[in-house]
Amino acid sequence: MAGDRSGAGPGATSPGGTGDGEPGWWPEVEPFRIKAVERIRRTTRAERERLIEEAGLNLFGLRSEDVYIDLLTDSGTSAMSDNQWAGLMVGDEAYAGSRSFYALRDAVEETMGLPYVIPTHQGRAAENVLFTTLVREGHIVPNNMHFDTTRAHVEHRKAEALDLAGPWAYDPVSEVPFKGDIDLEALERVLCERGASVPLVLLTVTCNSGGGQPVSMANLRATSDICRRHGVPLFLDAARFAENAYFIKRREPGYGSRTIPDIVREMFAYADGCTMSGKKDCLTNIGGFIALRDPDLYQRATVWAVLFEGFPTYGGLAGRDMEAMARGLREVLDEDYLEYRTGQVAYLGRCLAEAGVPIIEPVGGHAVYLDALRFLPGLGREALPGQALAVELYIEGGVRGVEIGTVLAGRDPTTGLDRYPRLEMVRLAVPRRVYTRQHLEVVVEAARRVLARRDGIRGLAFAEEPPVLRHFTARFRRL
Ligand SMILES: *Cc1c(COP(=O)(O)O)cnc(C)c1O
Repeated sequence: MAGDRSGAGPGATSPGGTGDGEPGWWPEVEPFRIKAVERIRRTTRAERERLIEEAGLNLFGLRSEDVYIDLLTDSGTSAMSDNQWAGLMVGDEAYAGSRSFYALRDAVEETMGLPYVIPTHQGRAAENVLFTTLVREGHIVPNNMHFDTTRAHVEHRKAEALDLAGPWAYDPVSEVPFKGDIDLEALERVLCERGASVPLVLLTVTCNSGGGQPVSMANLRATSDICRRHGVPLFLDAARFAENAYFIKRREPGYGSRTIPDIVREMFAYADGCTMSGKKDCLTNIGGFIALRDPDLYQRATVWAVLFEGFPTYGGLAGRDMEAMARGLREVLDEDYLEYRTGQVAYLGRCLAEAGVPIIEPVGGHAVYLDALRFLPGLGREALPGQALAVELYIEGGVRGVEIGTVLAGRDPTTGLDRYPRLEMVRLAVPRRVYTRQHLEVVVEAARRVLARRDGIRGLAFAEEPPVLRHFTARFRRL
Protein backbone atom coordinates (compact mmCIF):
# COMPACT_ATOMS: atom_id res chain seq x y z
CA MET A 1 0.00 0.00 0.00
CA ALA A 2 2.14 2.80 -1.24
CA GLY A 3 1.79 6.52 -1.19
CA ASP A 4 -1.04 8.71 -0.07
CA ARG A 5 -4.13 6.77 -1.06
CA SER A 6 -6.46 8.46 1.30
CA GLY A 7 -5.49 12.01 0.59
CA ALA A 8 -5.83 12.28 4.33
CA GLY A 9 -2.09 12.61 4.64
CA PRO A 10 -1.27 9.47 6.63
CA GLY A 11 2.22 9.23 7.97
CA ALA A 12 4.91 11.51 9.15
CA THR A 13 4.06 14.57 7.18
CA SER A 14 0.76 16.16 6.54
CA PRO A 15 0.34 17.95 3.25
CA GLY A 16 -2.50 19.96 4.67
CA GLY A 17 -0.95 21.01 7.94
CA THR A 18 -3.31 22.40 10.47
CA GLY A 19 -6.41 24.36 9.76
CA ASP A 20 -4.72 27.62 10.74
CA GLY A 21 -2.38 27.60 7.77
CA GLU A 22 0.77 26.26 9.49
CA PRO A 23 2.98 24.40 7.02
CA GLY A 24 2.46 20.69 7.63
CA TRP A 25 5.64 19.12 8.95
CA TRP A 26 3.95 17.32 11.85
CA PRO A 27 1.77 14.21 11.75
CA GLU A 28 -1.98 14.23 12.32
CA VAL A 29 -1.52 14.64 16.03
CA GLU A 30 -4.42 14.71 18.44
CA PRO A 31 -5.90 18.23 18.46
CA PHE A 32 -6.77 17.73 22.15
CA ARG A 33 -5.15 16.72 25.40
CA ILE A 34 -6.46 14.08 27.80
CA LYS A 35 -8.46 15.25 30.81
CA ALA A 36 -10.06 12.04 32.07
CA VAL A 37 -8.96 8.43 31.59
CA GLU A 38 -10.62 5.04 31.84
CA ARG A 39 -8.62 2.00 32.91
CA ILE A 40 -8.52 -0.97 30.54
CA ARG A 41 -7.44 -4.45 31.57
CA ARG A 42 -5.14 -6.85 29.80
CA THR A 43 -6.13 -10.52 29.84
CA THR A 44 -4.08 -13.65 29.26
CA ARG A 45 -4.42 -15.73 26.13
CA ALA A 46 -5.81 -18.64 28.18
CA GLU A 47 -8.48 -16.35 29.63
CA ARG A 48 -9.42 -15.08 26.19
CA GLU A 49 -9.70 -18.60 24.78
CA ARG A 50 -12.13 -19.49 27.58
CA LEU A 51 -14.08 -16.21 27.36
CA ILE A 52 -14.68 -16.41 23.61
CA GLU A 53 -15.82 -20.04 23.88
CA GLU A 54 -18.32 -19.00 26.58
CA ALA A 55 -19.53 -16.22 24.28
CA GLY A 56 -20.39 -18.79 21.60
CA LEU A 57 -17.50 -17.55 19.40
CA ASN A 58 -19.49 -14.32 18.96
CA LEU A 59 -17.67 -11.14 19.91
CA PHE A 60 -20.96 -9.42 20.72
CA GLY A 61 -21.25 -11.88 23.61
CA LEU A 62 -18.05 -10.67 25.33
CA ARG A 63 -18.06 -8.33 28.28
CA SER A 64 -16.37 -5.05 27.49
CA GLU A 65 -14.06 -5.41 30.50
CA ASP A 66 -12.64 -8.56 28.87
CA VAL A 67 -11.67 -6.63 25.73
CA TYR A 68 -8.35 -4.78 25.65
CA ILE A 69 -8.84 -2.70 22.51
CA ASP A 70 -12.44 -2.45 21.43
CA LEU A 71 -12.81 -1.80 17.70
CA LEU A 72 -16.26 -3.39 17.51
CA THR A 73 -17.79 -0.12 16.47
CA ASP A 74 -17.28 3.61 16.28
CA SER A 75 -20.96 3.98 17.22
CA GLY A 76 -21.63 5.64 20.56
CA THR A 77 -18.02 5.02 21.63
CA SER A 78 -16.63 8.53 21.11
CA ALA A 79 -14.94 10.41 23.91
CA MET A 80 -16.98 13.56 24.49
CA SER A 81 -15.19 16.86 24.93
CA ASP A 82 -15.14 18.93 28.11
CA ASN A 83 -17.51 21.27 26.29
CA GLN A 84 -19.99 18.44 25.67
CA TRP A 85 -19.74 17.21 29.27
CA ALA A 86 -20.39 20.75 30.43
CA GLY A 87 -23.44 20.75 28.13
CA LEU A 88 -24.93 17.82 30.05
CA MET A 89 -25.15 20.03 33.13
CA VAL A 90 -27.12 22.74 31.38
CA GLY A 91 -29.47 20.33 29.57
CA ASP A 92 -33.11 21.38 29.89
CA GLU A 93 -35.27 18.39 30.89
CA ALA A 94 -38.63 20.01 30.11
CA TYR A 95 -41.11 17.64 28.44
CA ALA A 96 -42.18 20.27 25.92
CA GLY A 97 -40.20 23.14 24.44
CA SER A 98 -36.85 22.17 25.97
CA ARG A 99 -34.11 24.76 25.47
CA SER A 100 -31.80 21.87 24.54
CA PHE A 101 -34.15 20.88 21.72
CA TYR A 102 -33.82 24.38 20.29
CA ALA A 103 -30.05 24.19 20.70
CA LEU A 104 -30.09 20.98 18.66
CA ARG A 105 -32.49 22.32 16.08
CA ASP A 106 -30.35 25.44 15.62
CA ALA A 107 -27.14 23.39 15.30
CA VAL A 108 -28.77 21.15 12.67
CA GLU A 109 -30.15 24.08 10.71
CA GLU A 110 -26.82 25.91 10.90
CA THR A 111 -24.70 22.93 9.78
CA MET A 112 -27.10 21.14 7.41
CA GLY A 113 -29.53 23.84 6.38
CA LEU A 114 -32.51 21.62 7.26
CA PRO A 115 -35.04 23.49 9.43
CA TYR A 116 -37.37 20.72 10.68
CA VAL A 117 -35.75 18.45 13.25
CA ILE A 118 -37.17 15.45 15.11
CA PRO A 119 -34.83 14.04 17.77
CA THR A 120 -34.78 10.25 18.14
CA HIS A 121 -32.97 8.00 20.57
CA GLN A 122 -30.59 6.81 17.83
CA GLY A 123 -30.25 6.44 14.07
CA ARG A 124 -32.41 3.36 13.59
CA ALA A 125 -35.24 5.09 15.43
CA ALA A 126 -35.02 7.89 12.88
CA GLU A 127 -35.27 5.20 10.17
CA ASN A 128 -38.28 3.66 11.88
CA VAL A 129 -40.14 6.97 12.08
CA LEU A 130 -39.27 8.12 8.54
CA PHE A 131 -39.91 4.75 6.86
CA THR A 132 -43.19 4.25 8.71
CA THR A 133 -44.22 7.61 7.26
CA LEU A 134 -43.04 6.98 3.69
CA VAL A 135 -42.51 3.28 2.91
CA ARG A 136 -45.27 0.75 2.08
CA GLU A 137 -45.51 -2.90 1.07
CA GLY A 138 -44.17 -3.40 -2.46
CA HIS A 139 -42.03 -0.26 -2.40
CA ILE A 140 -38.39 -0.18 -3.47
CA VAL A 141 -35.78 1.88 -1.65
CA PRO A 142 -32.57 2.42 -3.63
CA ASN A 143 -29.38 3.31 -1.72
CA ASN A 144 -25.68 3.14 -2.52
CA MET A 145 -25.52 0.43 0.17
CA HIS A 146 -27.94 -0.10 3.01
CA PHE A 147 -26.55 -0.23 6.50
CA ASP A 148 -27.84 -3.34 8.33
CA THR A 149 -30.49 -1.59 10.45
CA THR A 150 -31.57 0.49 7.44
CA ARG A 151 -32.08 -2.66 5.38
CA ALA A 152 -33.94 -4.33 8.26
CA HIS A 153 -36.27 -1.33 8.63
CA VAL A 154 -37.01 -1.22 4.89
CA GLU A 155 -37.74 -4.96 4.91
CA HIS A 156 -39.81 -4.60 8.07
CA ARG A 157 -42.08 -2.33 5.99
CA LYS A 158 -42.30 -5.21 3.45
CA ALA A 159 -40.37 -3.17 0.91
CA GLU A 160 -37.25 -4.02 -1.07
CA ALA A 161 -33.87 -2.53 -0.04
CA LEU A 162 -31.94 -2.16 -3.29
CA ASP A 163 -28.16 -1.58 -3.21
CA LEU A 164 -26.97 0.38 -6.25
CA ALA A 165 -23.32 1.11 -5.50
CA GLY A 166 -21.26 0.73 -8.66
CA PRO A 167 -19.04 -2.29 -9.34
CA TRP A 168 -16.07 -0.24 -8.05
CA ALA A 169 -17.48 -0.55 -4.53
CA TYR A 170 -17.00 -4.32 -4.58
CA ASP A 171 -13.40 -4.33 -5.79
CA PRO A 172 -11.23 -4.70 -2.69
CA VAL A 173 -8.13 -3.12 -4.20
CA SER A 174 -9.30 -0.45 -6.64
CA GLU A 175 -7.83 3.00 -6.00
CA VAL A 176 -11.10 4.80 -6.70
CA PRO A 177 -11.30 7.97 -4.56
CA PHE A 178 -15.11 7.86 -4.12
CA LYS A 179 -16.02 4.21 -3.88
CA GLY A 180 -19.26 5.13 -2.11
CA ASP A 181 -20.74 6.66 -5.28
CA ILE A 182 -24.09 5.27 -6.38
CA ASP A 183 -24.35 3.86 -9.92
CA LEU A 184 -26.22 6.69 -11.64
CA GLU A 185 -27.23 4.66 -14.69
CA ALA A 186 -28.65 1.90 -12.51
CA LEU A 187 -30.56 4.48 -10.46
CA GLU A 188 -31.94 6.11 -13.59
CA ARG A 189 -33.08 2.70 -14.86
CA VAL A 190 -34.85 1.81 -11.62
CA LEU A 191 -36.64 5.15 -11.52
CA CYS A 192 -37.67 4.88 -15.19
CA GLU A 193 -38.95 1.33 -14.86
CA ARG A 194 -40.34 1.30 -11.32
CA GLY A 195 -40.28 4.94 -10.22
CA ALA A 196 -43.90 4.86 -9.02
CA SER A 197 -42.85 2.31 -6.37
CA VAL A 198 -39.91 4.35 -5.08
CA PRO A 199 -40.94 6.52 -2.09
CA LEU A 200 -37.42 7.86 -1.50
CA VAL A 201 -33.80 7.39 -2.57
CA LEU A 202 -31.11 7.14 0.10
CA LEU A 203 -27.41 7.94 -0.09
CA THR A 204 -25.30 6.70 2.80
CA VAL A 205 -22.42 9.09 3.58
CA THR A 206 -19.90 7.68 4.11
CA CYS A 207 -20.92 4.27 2.79
CA ASN A 208 -20.59 2.17 5.95
CA SER A 209 -21.33 -1.30 4.54
CA GLY A 210 -18.98 -0.57 1.63
CA GLY A 211 -16.01 0.15 3.90
CA GLY A 212 -16.65 3.71 5.08
CA GLN A 213 -16.05 4.96 1.56
CA PRO A 214 -17.04 8.51 0.65
CA VAL A 215 -19.56 9.74 -1.89
CA SER A 216 -18.37 12.54 -4.15
CA MET A 217 -20.13 15.88 -4.44
CA ALA A 218 -20.50 15.24 -8.17
CA ASN A 219 -22.36 12.01 -7.41
CA LEU A 220 -24.56 13.72 -4.78
CA ARG A 221 -25.41 16.44 -7.28
CA ALA A 222 -26.17 14.01 -10.12
CA THR A 223 -28.27 11.78 -7.84
CA SER A 224 -30.24 14.82 -6.77
CA ASP A 225 -30.82 15.80 -10.42
CA ILE A 226 -32.11 12.32 -11.27
CA CYS A 227 -34.38 12.22 -8.22
CA ARG A 228 -35.77 15.68 -8.96
CA ARG A 229 -36.54 14.74 -12.57
CA HIS A 230 -38.49 11.72 -11.36
CA GLY A 231 -40.15 13.59 -8.50
CA VAL A 232 -38.65 11.30 -5.83
CA PRO A 233 -37.17 12.79 -2.64
CA LEU A 234 -33.49 12.18 -1.82
CA PHE A 235 -32.44 11.54 1.76
CA LEU A 236 -28.97 11.20 3.22
CA ASP A 237 -28.19 8.47 5.73
CA ALA A 238 -25.87 11.03 7.26
CA ALA A 239 -24.14 9.20 10.14
CA ARG A 240 -20.63 10.17 8.94
CA PHE A 241 -21.39 13.29 6.96
CA ALA A 242 -18.39 15.23 8.33
CA GLU A 243 -15.90 12.49 7.47
CA ASN A 244 -17.44 12.40 3.99
CA ALA A 245 -17.06 16.17 3.68
CA TYR A 246 -13.39 15.93 4.64
CA PHE A 247 -12.75 13.37 1.89
CA ILE A 248 -14.46 15.69 -0.61
CA LYS A 249 -12.16 18.50 0.48
CA ARG A 250 -9.05 16.36 0.13
CA ARG A 251 -9.90 14.36 -2.99
CA GLU A 252 -12.41 16.16 -5.19
CA PRO A 253 -11.15 18.80 -7.62
CA GLY A 254 -12.44 22.25 -6.80
CA TYR A 255 -13.02 21.67 -3.08
CA GLY A 256 -9.49 21.97 -1.66
CA SER A 257 -9.88 25.54 -0.55
CA ARG A 258 -13.51 25.32 0.62
CA THR A 259 -14.22 25.08 4.35
CA ILE A 260 -15.78 21.97 5.87
CA PRO A 261 -18.98 23.80 6.98
CA ASP A 262 -19.33 25.11 3.44
CA ILE A 263 -18.91 21.64 1.91
CA VAL A 264 -21.39 20.17 4.39
CA ARG A 265 -23.95 22.82 3.47
CA GLU A 266 -23.56 21.98 -0.20
CA MET A 267 -23.94 18.23 0.46
CA PHE A 268 -27.22 18.76 2.26
CA ALA A 269 -28.44 21.32 -0.26
CA TYR A 270 -28.95 18.38 -2.66
CA ALA A 271 -31.11 16.46 -0.16
CA ASP A 272 -34.69 16.74 1.03
CA GLY A 273 -33.74 15.48 4.45
CA CYS A 274 -31.67 13.03 6.42
CA THR A 275 -31.68 10.38 9.06
CA MET A 276 -28.82 10.76 11.48
CA SER A 277 -27.14 8.55 14.02
CA GLY A 278 -25.70 10.99 16.54
CA LYS A 279 -23.55 8.15 17.84
CA LYS A 280 -21.18 8.73 14.93
CA ASP A 281 -20.53 12.29 13.79
CA CYS A 282 -22.34 14.04 16.66
CA LEU A 283 -19.57 12.65 18.91
CA THR A 284 -22.09 11.48 21.51
CA ASN A 285 -22.81 8.17 23.19
CA ILE A 286 -26.50 8.15 22.27
CA GLY A 287 -28.90 10.11 20.07
CA GLY A 288 -30.07 10.69 16.55
CA PHE A 289 -32.52 12.75 14.57
CA ILE A 290 -34.50 13.22 11.40
CA ALA A 291 -34.02 16.57 9.64
CA LEU A 292 -36.39 17.69 6.90
CA ARG A 293 -37.00 20.51 4.48
CA ASP A 294 -40.73 19.94 3.96
CA PRO A 295 -43.12 21.11 6.73
CA ASP A 296 -45.88 18.72 5.61
CA LEU A 297 -43.62 15.69 5.82
CA TYR A 298 -42.48 16.98 9.22
CA GLN A 299 -46.10 17.04 10.42
CA ARG A 300 -46.75 13.51 9.15
CA ALA A 301 -43.54 12.16 10.68
CA THR A 302 -44.14 13.73 14.10
CA VAL A 303 -47.28 11.58 14.46
CA TRP A 304 -45.11 8.46 14.38
CA ALA A 305 -42.34 10.11 16.39
CA VAL A 306 -44.79 10.68 19.26
CA LEU A 307 -45.89 7.05 19.10
CA PHE A 308 -42.42 5.45 18.86
CA GLU A 309 -40.06 7.94 20.48
CA GLY A 310 -41.66 10.76 22.44
CA PHE A 311 -42.92 14.30 22.18
CA PRO A 312 -41.23 16.01 19.20
CA THR A 313 -39.08 18.27 21.40
CA TYR A 314 -37.34 15.37 23.15
CA GLY A 315 -37.87 12.33 20.94
CA GLY A 316 -36.66 9.59 23.23
CA LEU A 317 -33.72 11.56 24.59
CA ALA A 318 -32.90 13.39 27.77
CA GLY A 319 -32.49 17.13 27.29
CA ARG A 320 -28.83 16.79 28.23
CA ASP A 321 -28.26 14.33 25.38
CA MET A 322 -29.70 16.80 22.88
CA GLU A 323 -27.38 19.46 24.31
CA ALA A 324 -24.34 17.19 23.87
CA MET A 325 -25.41 16.36 20.29
CA ALA A 326 -25.82 20.04 19.45
CA ARG A 327 -22.29 20.76 20.67
CA GLY A 328 -20.82 17.68 19.00
CA LEU A 329 -22.39 18.66 15.69
CA ARG A 330 -20.38 21.88 15.73
CA GLU A 331 -17.16 20.29 17.02
CA VAL A 332 -17.10 17.61 14.34
CA LEU A 333 -16.70 20.26 11.63
CA ASP A 334 -13.25 21.23 12.97
CA GLU A 335 -10.77 20.49 10.21
CA ASP A 336 -7.92 19.71 12.63
CA TYR A 337 -10.16 17.11 14.22
CA LEU A 338 -11.13 15.56 10.86
CA GLU A 339 -7.51 15.49 9.71
CA TYR A 340 -6.49 13.69 12.90
CA ARG A 341 -9.49 11.38 12.72
CA THR A 342 -9.12 10.20 9.14
CA GLY A 343 -5.32 10.24 9.52
CA GLN A 344 -5.47 7.86 12.48
CA VAL A 345 -7.60 5.39 10.53
CA ALA A 346 -5.28 5.72 7.51
CA TYR A 347 -2.28 5.09 9.79
CA LEU A 348 -3.81 1.83 11.05
CA GLY A 349 -4.47 0.78 7.47
CA ARG A 350 -0.97 1.60 6.30
CA CYS A 351 0.69 -0.30 9.16
CA LEU A 352 -1.50 -3.36 8.54
CA ALA A 353 -0.76 -3.33 4.83
CA GLU A 354 2.96 -2.98 5.49
CA ALA A 355 2.70 -6.06 7.71
CA GLY A 356 1.23 -7.97 4.75
CA VAL A 357 -2.33 -8.05 6.08
CA PRO A 358 -4.85 -7.91 3.22
CA ILE A 359 -7.11 -4.90 3.68
CA ILE A 360 -9.74 -3.12 1.60
CA GLU A 361 -8.22 -0.13 -0.19
CA PRO A 362 -8.38 2.76 -0.12
CA VAL A 363 -8.99 2.98 3.62
CA GLY A 364 -12.30 4.62 4.51
CA GLY A 365 -13.15 7.21 7.13
CA HIS A 366 -13.94 5.31 10.30
CA ALA A 367 -12.54 1.82 9.99
CA VAL A 368 -10.04 -0.49 8.38
CA TYR A 369 -11.59 -3.57 6.79
CA LEU A 370 -9.59 -6.77 6.63
CA ASP A 371 -10.27 -8.87 3.54
CA ALA A 372 -11.04 -12.26 5.09
CA LEU A 373 -11.11 -14.17 1.79
CA ARG A 374 -7.53 -13.13 1.03
CA PHE A 375 -6.49 -13.44 4.69
CA LEU A 376 -7.84 -17.01 5.00
CA PRO A 377 -7.74 -18.31 1.41
CA GLY A 378 -8.24 -21.88 2.63
CA LEU A 379 -11.77 -21.19 3.90
CA GLY A 380 -14.81 -20.99 1.63
CA ARG A 381 -17.60 -18.50 2.32
CA GLU A 382 -19.77 -21.17 3.92
CA ALA A 383 -17.04 -21.57 6.56
CA LEU A 384 -17.64 -17.94 7.67
CA PRO A 385 -14.02 -16.73 7.27
CA GLY A 386 -14.77 -13.21 8.56
CA GLN A 387 -16.19 -14.53 11.80
CA ALA A 388 -13.30 -16.98 12.18
CA LEU A 389 -10.76 -14.18 11.68
CA ALA A 390 -12.49 -11.87 14.17
CA VAL A 391 -12.38 -14.62 16.80
CA GLU A 392 -8.64 -15.18 16.23
CA LEU A 393 -7.84 -11.46 16.56
CA TYR A 394 -9.49 -11.48 19.95
CA ILE A 395 -7.64 -14.58 21.08
CA GLU A 396 -4.34 -13.16 19.86
CA GLY A 397 -4.45 -9.63 21.21
CA GLY A 398 -7.69 -8.96 23.08
CA VAL A 399 -8.76 -6.92 20.06
CA ARG A 400 -12.46 -6.90 19.21
CA GLY A 401 -13.50 -6.27 15.60
CA VAL A 402 -16.67 -7.38 13.87
CA GLU A 403 -17.56 -9.56 10.90
CA ILE A 404 -19.05 -7.72 7.92
CA GLY A 405 -19.89 -10.60 5.63
CA THR A 406 -22.18 -13.58 5.37
CA VAL A 407 -23.10 -13.61 9.06
CA LEU A 408 -24.14 -9.96 8.95
CA ALA A 409 -25.89 -10.24 5.56
CA GLY A 410 -28.39 -12.76 6.90
CA ARG A 411 -30.83 -14.76 4.83
CA ASP A 412 -32.86 -13.65 1.85
CA PRO A 413 -36.39 -13.07 3.20
CA THR A 414 -38.03 -14.74 0.19
CA THR A 415 -35.75 -17.72 -0.45
CA GLY A 416 -34.57 -18.22 3.13
CA LEU A 417 -31.05 -18.86 1.83
CA ASP A 418 -27.82 -17.26 3.03
CA ARG A 419 -26.98 -14.08 1.15
CA TYR A 420 -23.31 -14.18 0.27
CA PRO A 421 -22.03 -10.63 -0.06
CA ARG A 422 -19.26 -10.02 -2.51
CA LEU A 423 -16.80 -9.26 0.27
CA GLU A 424 -16.11 -11.11 3.50
CA MET A 425 -14.55 -8.64 5.90
CA VAL A 426 -13.58 -7.95 9.47
CA ARG A 427 -14.14 -4.33 10.37
CA LEU A 428 -11.79 -2.64 12.80
CA ALA A 429 -13.72 0.52 13.62
CA VAL A 430 -11.81 3.24 15.41
CA PRO A 431 -13.73 5.06 18.16
CA ARG A 432 -13.40 8.83 17.92
CA ARG A 433 -10.81 10.49 20.20
CA VAL A 434 -10.34 7.29 22.27
CA TYR A 435 -7.23 5.29 21.37
CA THR A 436 -3.59 6.30 20.82
CA ARG A 437 -1.10 5.21 18.18
CA GLN A 438 0.40 2.68 20.62
CA HIS A 439 -2.99 1.03 20.97
CA LEU A 440 -3.22 0.76 17.20
CA GLU A 441 0.24 -0.79 17.10
CA VAL A 442 -1.02 -3.58 19.38
CA VAL A 443 -3.78 -4.20 16.83
CA VAL A 444 -1.26 -4.41 14.00
CA GLU A 445 0.95 -6.85 15.90
CA ALA A 446 -2.03 -9.07 16.75
CA ALA A 447 -3.08 -9.19 13.09
CA ARG A 448 0.50 -9.94 12.02
CA ARG A 449 0.66 -12.88 14.44
CA VAL A 450 -2.69 -14.30 13.28
CA LEU A 451 -1.49 -14.00 9.69
CA ALA A 452 1.65 -15.99 10.54
CA ARG A 453 -0.45 -18.93 11.80
CA ARG A 454 -3.34 -18.65 9.36
CA ASP A 455 -2.95 -22.15 7.91
CA GLY A 456 -4.09 -23.66 11.19
CA ILE A 457 -7.31 -21.61 11.47
CA ARG A 458 -10.57 -23.56 11.13
CA GLY A 459 -13.84 -22.27 9.76
CA LEU A 460 -17.07 -21.81 11.73
CA ALA A 461 -20.73 -22.79 11.42
CA PHE A 462 -23.85 -21.53 13.18
CA ALA A 463 -24.73 -23.38 16.38
CA GLU A 464 -27.70 -21.09 17.14
CA GLU A 465 -29.15 -18.70 14.59
CA PRO A 466 -31.82 -16.11 15.47
CA PRO A 467 -34.19 -15.12 12.62
CA VAL A 468 -33.60 -11.32 12.56
CA LEU A 469 -30.27 -9.45 12.80
CA ARG A 470 -28.66 -12.78 13.56
CA HIS A 471 -25.12 -11.48 13.96
CA PHE A 472 -25.87 -9.89 17.34
CA THR A 473 -26.90 -13.04 19.23
CA ALA A 474 -25.88 -16.04 17.11
CA ARG A 475 -23.61 -18.75 18.57
CA PHE A 476 -21.03 -20.59 16.50
CA ARG A 477 -19.06 -23.83 16.56
CA ARG A 478 -15.73 -24.70 14.96
CA LEU A 479 -15.80 -26.92 11.87
C1 LIG B 1 -25.04 3.46 12.76
C2 LIG B 1 -25.75 3.66 11.51
C3 LIG B 1 -27.14 3.64 11.45
C4 LIG B 1 -28.01 3.33 12.65
O1 LIG B 1 -27.78 4.19 13.71
P1 LIG B 1 -27.87 3.72 15.24
O2 LIG B 1 -27.61 4.99 15.98
O3 LIG B 1 -26.85 2.68 15.46
O4 LIG B 1 -29.25 3.21 15.47
C5 LIG B 1 -27.73 3.90 10.24
N1 LIG B 1 -27.00 4.12 9.14
C6 LIG B 1 -25.66 4.14 9.15
C7 LIG B 1 -24.90 4.42 7.91
C8 LIG B 1 -24.99 3.91 10.33
O5 LIG B 1 -23.65 3.90 10.34
